[in-house]
Amino acid sequence: MSNLDENCIFCKIIRGEIPCAKVFENEHVLAFLDISQVTKGHTLVIPKVHKKDIHELTPEIARHLFEVVPQIATAIKETYEPVGINILNNNGEKAGQSVFHYHMHIIPRYGEGDGFG
Ligand code: 5GP
Ligand code: ZN
Repeated sequence: MSNLDENCIFCKIIRGEIPCAKVFENEHVLAFLDISQVTKGHTLVIPKVHKKDIHELTPEIARHLFEVVPQIATAIKETYEPVGINILNNNGEKAGQSVFHYHMHIIPRYGEGDGFG
């Protein structure tokens, strides 16, 4: 795929070169479990084009993401039965971004002491 970056770890996941625990996939978006889950069911949602952060997203890519994020969050709610869900996105190293392919974190919450926040 031409819109992917040779050396990007998430592009490698999209290409199937690195395995992942897939949660959802369509033509434009892939969601998979975070390799180091901060809580049970911690999921990442990524566009199938290499864009490093939110500032590089086009309205079309943003639309593709938000078209599916509610249903992914609802599926996670039904599967893991958390008491709440955080959805967040880090942009820039100083904001905690470590993989420079845009992604949204869906983090199920289980109450005090669930390990996040
Ligand atoms: P960031 O810190 O950039 O907001 O989030 C990057 C996330 O990607 C981290 O939570 C990290 O655990 C996850 N991650 C890094 N490498 C891999 C990988 O190879 N597979 C999966 N499933 N998650 C990864
Ligand atoms: Zn990438």
